Amino acid sequence: MAVEPFAVAELRYFELVASRKSGSLDAPTFRKAVRALAVKDMEGREWILGPEDGQWHHREHDRWITANPPRRLVCPACGHHNLTRHSFCVECGKTLVKPGARV
Ligand SMILES: [Zn+2]
Repeated sequence: MAVEPFAVAELRYFELVASRKSGSLDAPTFRKAVRALAVKDMEGREWILGPEDGQWHHREHDRWITANPPRRLVCPACGHHNLTRHSFCVECGKTLVKPGARV
């Protein structure tokens, strides 16, 4: 399966929210775990999920800006990073699964 780092972090975030709601995680542990889901994009910018809203934020000067991260699909066959608008790998032509697509 193609891996998309932002989608992977989102899945983990939903698991953490579920644990928080069921009471198995306290608030500080939850926040720490969400912070640990930080993803670096191809330009080296750090993105974090807001613990309350589940939105992606990136740091610009001294503030966190809410924005959509530059998603990538890593080809399961050759490891090439593809833009998510591609449905197949531009390098080897393999069909890419989109883990971020919600049904
Ligand atoms: Zn490929």
